[in-house]
Amino acid sequence: MSSKILLIYTGGTIGMKTDADGVLTPFDFNLIYQEFPSLRSIDTEIEVLPFDPIDSSNVSPELWERLARIIERNYDLYDGFVVLHGTDTMAYSASALSFMFDGLAKPVIFTGSQIPIGVLRTDGRENLITAVEIAAAKLPDGRARVPEVCIYFQNRLLRANRTKKTSAEELNAFASYNYPPLAEVGVTIQYNDAFIHRPEEGESFAVSCDIDTSVAVIKIFPGMTERVFRSMLSVEGVKGIVLETFGSGNAPTSSWFLDALRGTIERGVVVMNVTQCWSGRVNMDIYETGARLQSTGVVNGRDITTEAAVTKMMRLAGLPHDEFVARLGAAWRGEMGI
Ligand code: ASP
Repeated sequence: MSSKILLIYTGGTIGMKTDADGVLTPFDFNLIYQEFPSLRSIDTEIEVLPFDPIDSSNVSPELWERLARIIERNYDLYDGFVVLHGTDTMAYSASALSFMFDGLAKPVIFTGSQIPIGVLRTDGRENLITAVEIAAAKLPDGRARVPEVCIYFQNRLLRANRTKKTSAEELNAFASYNYPPLAEVGVTIQYNDAFIHRPEEGESFAVSCDIDTSVAVIKIFPGMTERVFRSMLSVEGVKGIVLETFGSGNAPTSSWFLDALRGTIERGVVVMNVTQCWSGRVNMDIYETGARLQSTGVVNGRDITTEAAVTKMMRLAGLPHDEFVARLGAAWRGEMGI
């Protein structure tokens, strides 16, 4: 069964090659078949949409909206989408898109590389080829094999909003500690079907680009002063704060800390408790330090990543306060457990 894939190139390391003088220059993705003749052996037609490349440190919600609208406009024309993106903020962009789509029935696979695609030892070639293969994969009845927003990197397909970049140097740069890989790639691609989300029968695809960036992240640390904490909490116009806490969602029990937080929440700012740990979850029932924090009215972020928490908050911060709180604390796109 042949498939048609739209490959969108946004920038990042994957898009570089060395020229005759050994200097790194941008790779022209329009010449993809010339550079990678092996792509022709996949039973897939690839169309390329190159953006003016940016380093992903410069990514903003405008890029997310642009990607979401392109996918919306081309949804019926392609079987799947591959987004080439810098690795630094890929987990944010991919998480954001997962919250911008309703009823997604086609794969949207983000990938990139740690070594430029035009460098001999590149990891980009395998990442790109396998991402295309996964985006093109179908079930015997013709439905997409993985109708989710994902990150494919170094032999693993991960749910986008469960993923974080964990290494600046290793080729195995991404991890999903709280949710199993959706596929593992060796000699063959082994799909983990039981963990792949599928839209309900009859659910139709829709895109929402409502993003409100009035959010902040506060990472607590031992020795944080009252002045620093209060000034971070009182930034004008902030509607939501991701509070990165210790271990299973614990924080200092000093009265100034809890009072400052309680006052912020009473002012209508929504605060979500997310653990600084890479794996495991917030459980504010275990220690007094968690229980006291819970009493301030923070939303339990359970096992969500900071990347997913920030982008989920941006998607919901424009809603009326009570709806914002309720939806933030509920699992939405598989980004957190129950
Ligand atoms: N700085 C690059 C970026 O995120 C790194 C990469 O692509 O791996 O755009």
